[in-house]
Amino acid sequence: MMADEERYVKLAEKIFMGESPVIRQLFAAIAGPEEAEALLAMPATTASLAEGSGRSVEETQSMVDGLYRKGLVFKKETPEGTVYRMCRDIMQFHDATILWPEAPRSYLDLWQRYMEEEWPAFSETVEKMLPRPVTRIVPVSESVDSRQQVLAFEDVRRIVENSEPIAVTNCTCRLIAHKCDRPVEICLQVGKAAAYSVDRGTGRAVDTEEAIALLRKAEEAGLVHVTMNRAGESHFICNCCNDCCMTFPMLIDRKLKMCDPSRFGCVIDEETCTGCGDCLERCFFGALTLDESRGLMTVDAEACMGCGLCQVVCPEGAVSLVEVREQDFIPG
Ligand code: SF4
Ligand code: SF4
Ligand code: SF4
Repeated sequence: MMADEERYVKLAEKIFMGESPVIRQLFAAIAGPEEAEALLAMPATTASLAEGSGRSVEETQSMVDGLYRKGLVFKKETPEGTVYRMCRDIMQFHDATILWPEAPRSYLDLWQRYMEEEWPAFSETVEKMLPRPVTRIVPVSESVDSRQQVLAFEDVRRIVENSEPIAVTNCTCRLIAHKCDRPVEICLQVGKAAAYSVDRGTGRAVDTEEAIALLRKAEEAGLVHVTMNRAGESHFICNCCNDCCMTFPMLIDRKLKMCDPSRFGCVIDEETCTGCGDCLERCFFGALTLDESRGLMTVDAEACMGCGLCQVVCPEGAVSLVEVREQDFIPG
């Protein structure tokens, strides 16, 4: 067996984070020496992991099941049996292990330390490497003008109506940062991602009705819907705040292109707007300004991300979203 420190450096290297001191500490906090050895030997079946380890297949299976519950391994059925592989990158390590049901507070605090000390610089590197952001904002369904064409995968209501199964999980960002009191059990997983989260014990299965009620709860709490930035595909609907979220502060404060806008932009009807100001604090992106002399709200089209949260609170029905980007804006 290799020395402890070396083992955890190798695990960090396996997710391309060998230079990160905090990622090494995170691995040391979640995986014991034998678990770390097994992770380094993956991908593998339980039988091959047991071979020469001094553990029976049953003992090895119990260890691997524990690693699966922790979010460190994923499984795939093959003709040779179930093959286990380690989380492949920092995003899987982050998203899966923060939801480890038995995670001690110290583990979550260590992740928050990573987000504060290392994540901003890492985000800058990732932003330069990726051709397009991996996530995209999806508007509040009712906020889009009814004359606009909305594709099925850019309509949160239709995403959940067309998906089976659906599960709700905790928001990993608010779980570790707890900087605001917005809902935590609010992120929706759909299809395979939902089945995985229920199987692992990190998600709670919900029906379409409850999923839609959760979307409404998110909108009322001022959370922005975010999904995968790929046409025709959605594995999750994140509901993001502007303080705990790993992405929005990078986008808002550092101007990093970490999340694409929706294809829609906000329009305020000058005849109907009374300038009450209710929508102002709903906008995370600084796109709204109250023109006091004219008594109405104005929109900076460049800054608007097309989330539709301002529409949710407008008592006059003065806000609607219209198409401002072509359909091919969403990567295929
Ligand atoms: S990306 Fe948004 S919803 Fe998803 S975990 Fe982070 S804050 Fe929560
Ligand atoms: S103005 Fe702000 S709150 Fe309204 S849709 Fe645009 S980004 Fe969202
Ligand atoms: S909430 Fe509606 S009426 Fe009030 S300022 Fe905003 S757009 Fe105008």
